[in-house]
Amino acid sequence: MLTLNSCNKNELEMLVVSLGESKYRAGQLFRWLYHERATNINSMSNISKTFRELLADNARILQLKELASVSSKIDGTTKVLFELEDGERIEAVVLPARGSLTACISSQVGCKMGCRFCATARIGYKRNLHTAEILEQLRQLEVLARAKFNGNLTNIVFMGMGEPLDNYNNVLKAINIMLDDNGYGYSHRRITLSSAGLAPKIKLMLDDGCNVNLAVSINAPDDDTRRAIMPINNKYNLAELMETLKGLDLQRRKRITIEYVMLGGLNDTAEHARSLMTLLRGLPVKINLIRYNGGGDANLKPPKEEDVLAFQSILTSHKYTTFIRKSLGADIFGACGQLAAGYYANTR
Ligand code: SF4
Repeated sequence: MLTLNSCNKNELEMLVVSLGESKYRAGQLFRWLYHERATNINSMSNISKTFRELLADNARILQLKELASVSSKIDGTTKVLFELEDGERIEAVVLPARGSLTACISSQVGCKMGCRFCATARIGYKRNLHTAEILEQLRQLEVLARAKFNGNLTNIVFMGMGEPLDNYNNVLKAINIMLDDNGYGYSHRRITLSSAGLAPKIKLMLDDGCNVNLAVSINAPDDDTRRAIMPINNKYNLAELMETLKGLDLQRRKRITIEYVMLGGLNDTAEHARSLMTLLRGLPVKINLIRYNGGGDANLKPPKEEDVLAFQSILTSHKYTTFIRKSLGADIFGACGQLAAGYYANTR
């Protein structure tokens, strides 16, 4: 049976035409599904009862089952564990901070990238999420944000489980529906896609006109260090990645976010900071330093506080906008993927 909330406008047009209706019904259906966030075909009141019944015989609206949620007592960060129809599990998070409510959503069950500092990497790769599974996380987090924080989501980040560009078609389709005025209606300034550095897909995304914010997980200024913590560097090394980033036709005022997970004794010295500046020279960037908090490879250590501050100070003194990312939800496992990783570890 066709999943309606995995369909873009063209696919809905094909569906309604195949069911003997005129094309304009697809526009109504699209608005009901994504603008009105309908979860029930029967609620689509401006569509005739006969056609609703025909639709219900041929298609359905997918919803995710919320299995568990856990909230931080410190800052309210709330993680939700969802079960998919095939029994796989993913997590998504609402992060409240300084007047914003950010949804962090997953793009895959597990991940192939194998970053050593990441809890999701321990699950391995299970499968890509369908477009409906991606959009449903957002819809359910919107409901959660209103109920728990009495507000609307302000930002969406693809920083949950999975490498979004490794699930390119489904993620891009979901983003286009999030951006559509007749869909979810979010601004491209409010959506950030974070990648481990799949250089050709980053270029493709821009070539395909996807102008959401881009974050790239760099984590080391040289190939040897990066290869040791991010196996993807064997496929796309820093030279190739930087050449791709420097060649992107970014919209005016857009900067690439460089994510840098700081690992004690591994990538956190003054020399690393200076090499990072050399690497990034000429790129419009802002840098997010993220203290490693555990959850990945047992041999990795958190950095010392003074090393994080010294690293930031070197970058800011050279006019690089550099933030130390606040670790939200520290009491409910800081790293994305840990709720689901716990489940998979217990069921292996
Ligand atoms: S950090 Fe991201 S890309 Fe790397 S293994 Fe984890 S989920 Fe995958």
